[in-house]
Amino acid sequence: MSKVLIIGAGGVASVTVKKCARLPELFDEIYLASRTISKCEALQKEVGIDRVKAVFAVDADSAAQVTALIQKVQPDLVVNLALPYQDLPIMDACLATKTDYLDTANYEPKDVAKFEYSWQWAYQDRFKEAGIMALLGSGFDPGVTNVYTAYAAKHYFDEIHYLDIVDCNGGDHGQAFATNFNPEINIREITQVGKYFENGEWKETPPLSVREDLDYQNIGVRASYLMFHEELESIVKHFPSLKRARFWMTFGDAYLNHLKVLEGIGMTSITPIDFQGQQIVPLEFLKAVLPNPGSLAQGYTGQTCIGTYVTGIKDGQEKTIFIYNNCSHSACYEEVGAQAVSYTTGVPAMIGAALMLNKTWHKPGVWNMEQFDPDPFMDMLNEHGLAWHVIKCESPFK
Ligand code: NDP
Repeated sequence: MSKVLIIGAGGVASVTVKKCARLPELFDEIYLASRTISKCEALQKEVGIDRVKAVFAVDADSAAQVTALIQKVQPDLVVNLALPYQDLPIMDACLATKTDYLDTANYEPKDVAKFEYSWQWAYQDRFKEAGIMALLGSGFDPGVTNVYTAYAAKHYFDEIHYLDIVDCNGGDHGQAFATNFNPEINIREITQVGKYFENGEWKETPPLSVREDLDYQNIGVRASYLMFHEELESIVKHFPSLKRARFWMTFGDAYLNHLKVLEGIGMTSITPIDFQGQQIVPLEFLKAVLPNPGSLAQGYTGQTCIGTYVTGIKDGQEKTIFIYNNCSHSACYEEVGAQAVSYTTGVPAMIGAALMLNKTWHKPGVWNMEQFDPDPFMDMLNEHGLAWHVIKCESPFK
């Protein structure tokens, strides 16, 4: 009997819940909790009460509330699909109840737009001593991109030297400006200083100031901007042969123009301001007026292409490969009523959870995705809607 407790009922969680629900042999009982219980109830109604056994309201900023919920449900695994702010309270609750943990994004304090693994890696000894496991970043990027890197290192190279992770959304949702996952988290991420790893050091660039025009499989050439992304931090730690590691994401001119204006007038700030006698955070207000990412799914055309260029040495020769997935927004909508960004995150969360529950990936401690054998994860990607491809190519970055 395996029992999973999923926390969060947004775009990503709805995909994970639906995918888990189709696999009763791996997920016997699913329980769902979030801040707004009506969202859990709607999802439970869609999936069926036979699969989502019960729903609960929880404020996951409170470790005490999550602890009480875990004690009531007694799950084998907690899947955290709420926001990065809740990672630490949920990990604390897992420690208190000796329960395994999985998430898709690393911890970020609410009052500082800064994400890094140090806070969660600090739980390593306590998780080991408690005999429980935490799997960090089981989404697409981070997540699948870490697994692609491990797969390349295992099967294609003696040593890997250069890594470029590329994330292209070639889709069109018809809105003037919208983000594809939680707007607050997304805007905090992309307005940060760019950062990449080279020759043992982290180098910084002004936000979205370094551009390459890259040709994406089945999409075409798109302007791609260098950004810091959390998987770089763990991958360079676990693959010390890397001389350089970078992350690129595509943005259209209209998106960047909107962002520039919103930043210019202070709407992306996380510093509270006085508004009609109360304190509000401009970015939280902006989130409230932007489209809910889930609502973009209907009518969303085009597809994503996310992948990993790896250059390294095999039998004394330098070579480059590209491992990637294309994911169609409309195919995701037909399958689970979601757009491709929620889908490409929600499916790997289900796969990570399945591998933990069946003990294929299981050891006490706090781990990143590239620290496990990539093969079973890669097999499940092919089986559950995120087929991947490997091509030998010239590096587009030379
Ligand atoms: P949404 O905003 O759609 O959903 C977040 C959910 O978390 C909502 O149901 C929200 O509840 C709930 N929540 C927020 N705060 C709390 C709280 N204090 N207690 C309980 N529940 C809470 O976000 P997404 O589904 O788009 O993203 C989910 C996660 O996935 C994020 O952490 C995001 O960073 C990550 N992500 C990872 C990616 C990857 O590739 N690794 C890519 C995309 C996203 P309410 O309805 O009340 O607001």
